[in-house]
Amino acid sequence: MPAEADGDALGQPVTSLRGVGERQAERLAQLGIHSVHDLLLHLPLRYEDRSRVRRLGELRPGEQALASGTVELAEIARGRRNRLLCRITDGTGALTLVFFHFHPGLQKRLARGTRVRCFGEVRDGPSGLQMIHPELETGVDAAEGGDGLLPVYPATQGLNQTALRRLVDGAIALLDAVAPAELLPPTLHGDAALPTFPEAVKGLHRPPDDTPLATLEARDYPPRRRLVLEELLAHHLTLRRQRHRLRDRAAAPVLRGTGRLVAAFREALAFTLTAAQERVDRETAADMASRAPMLRLVQGDVGSGKTVIAALAALRSVESGMQTAIMAPTELLAEQHYRNFRDWLEPLGVEVAWLSGRMPASERREALRALADGDSQVVVGTHALFQDDVTFSRLGLVVVDEQHRFGVHQRLALREKGQREHAQPHQLIMTATPIPRTLAMTAYADLDVSVIDELPPGRTPVKTVAVPDTRRDEVVAGIAKACAEGRQAYWVCTLIEESDTLQAQAAAETVELLQEALPELRIGLVHGRLKAAEKDGVMRAFADGDVDLLVATTVIEVGVDVPNASLLVIENPERLGLAQLHQLRGRVGRGTAASSCVLLYHAPLTETAKARLAVLRESNDGFEIARCDLEIRGPGELLGTRQTGAWALRVADLVADGELIPRVQQMADRLLQEAPASADPLIERWVGAAARYGRV
Ligand code: ADP
Ligand code: MG
Repeated sequence: MPAEADGDALGQPVTSLRGVGERQAERLAQLGIHSVHDLLLHLPLRYEDRSRVRRLGELRPGEQALASGTVELAEIARGRRNRLLCRITDGTGALTLVFFHFHPGLQKRLARGTRVRCFGEVRDGPSGLQMIHPELETGVDAAEGGDGLLPVYPATQGLNQTALRRLVDGAIALLDAVAPAELLPPTLHGDAALPTFPEAVKGLHRPPDDTPLATLEARDYPPRRRLVLEELLAHHLTLRRQRHRLRDRAAAPVLRGTGRLVAAFREALAFTLTAAQERVDRETAADMASRAPMLRLVQGDVGSGKTVIAALAALRSVESGMQTAIMAPTELLAEQHYRNFRDWLEPLGVEVAWLSGRMPASERREALRALADGDSQVVVGTHALFQDDVTFSRLGLVVVDEQHRFGVHQRLALREKGQREHAQPHQLIMTATPIPRTLAMTAYADLDVSVIDELPPGRTPVKTVAVPDTRRDEVVAGIAKACAEGRQAYWVCTLIEESDTLQAQAAAETVELLQEALPELRIGLVHGRLKAAEKDGVMRAFADGDVDLLVATTVIEVGVDVPNASLLVIENPERLGLAQLHQLRGRVGRGTAASSCVLLYHAPLTETAKARLAVLRESNDGFEIARCDLEIRGPGELLGTRQTGAWALRVADLVADGELIPRVQQMADRLLQEAPASADPLIERWVGAAARYGRV
């Protein structure tokens, strides 16, 4: 059967299965299951071993077990909460069954001498081992044996384990009927042959009864490994293909430049580039001198000096007679870049324009005209840059700053924007979220990656402390002290609320409280509800030293640069992600003064929250922090794609399976050589709709 036909049968909606109606389909949709294929990949969370009735004497606390015995005693223990206790024995040991909720008839059913069989978690109790609310059968003979290894699925309201098992059985029957062709040539399997796709699916849903639980749950259980490799391979192929399509579609202009502006810029800079900046600049310059469009991601920790790299690239583009668009994720950051680029480039005679969604219509019209006519050589802005009415006369380079804030799909959409112009622009993408290498290879297989792994000299690491909000007064006193020494401070309010208005309110209240406690200080406020000009005014006053303490919502998160600020207080840091906190912390420690960051948390913290704040206290290294964040929270969060869900992996786990990623790259090379026709069905099988959405 041709590969496409496999995809078709298994790609059909779940309603194509016997007995699945609209209602059932809706419930399945809540679990993210739409097609038969989704159902096949709705894998068990764990398994219950009911294959064997265990002797009571061999039970150990913590395990799930099927056990059986004879009732010795069933009595109601009175107390704060009445409970029914039933003691069973089998000659090798005893077990107490505990029921907090019970029907009066249960005690009768458990009359002395009754044979019972039960399943549940074995625990240590006050009088030996116990099971709380076990599943229970009475009058069954122990010799009747068990029910095998029962899969336990992620379930939802109205869709219990029994229903899910039945649905999966239906999907497996269809899989058997379709018998899809093998997509992985044997040379890709490595030392030990991998099970086929149907074998792997069945090995996870319906494992043989004699499989030990530990084997089944191991990451290298062959059926799981097969699916993990296939999934990682499919994602990798998707991104590779994207890159090739893009490269083949149109050539980019060769931006070799003359070196004139670059030299003048370096001359005027107040500092010399770090070795890491020099290296990344060379890599960028080499890409831009080629007809193949540059697709380069520059990773550099907060404060590592990425902006200069963008400026150098922009100047090369200008020297070659082409335009550069620089996009930032927030108005505030875009404005800061605009100021920076104007200060740096205008003395060299380069025209820098500004484009935001919030500018007056007449100004916007003029900015658009200047871009279309080619009068503006460099334009800085927000997403407004990529709206439909924006046309460039000769766009040669696109710089996207802090790309993690945009998400994978926006990144792809942006490329499409570039396509509309007659020649394809080069792309330079910058991020301060250092992505661990393994993850970068998967998530950014479509990009070349440069790393600025060095901070400019003379920076002192930020000292980070976690303080409970019961000691808020001490923290406020710390602000007074820093400001008395002529330094400045930030106070960041975090609020779970998505609403700008509520965040603004909370921040305004904080200002009032702080002003009361610190009457001698000049306090400024920025939040998302302020008009761009107002925000700009406050930021400028802070940058000029006319404001001592800046209270802000997380709008100041990215890129804001005020070297005299040496103290940063973050309220309720437990609400934010580690990468975001690290970004915020980067607001201080930008000058030569010793700086500190106070994490003012609200007790009690969960274990996870404690672990995360500890990571931040102990490390100033964005890569290390990102690695921990990945372990604690998973990759979706880190890549900013959690909402889209499109890149959610079904089987693979980028942390647990990270060691497989280099192998996946080799597999991809081999597959494209030996069985290129397998790439399409593999992508369809695993990435499907998401790949189409990304217009792969
Ligand atoms: P980020 O990588 O976080 O975007 P920036 O580009 O904003 O960092 O740079 C942070 C600060 O460091 C800026 O004030 C910038 O002018 C300064 N800077 C950049 N490179 C160097 C360098 N090589 N030596 C000294 N200061 C530098
Ligand atoms: Mg920056």
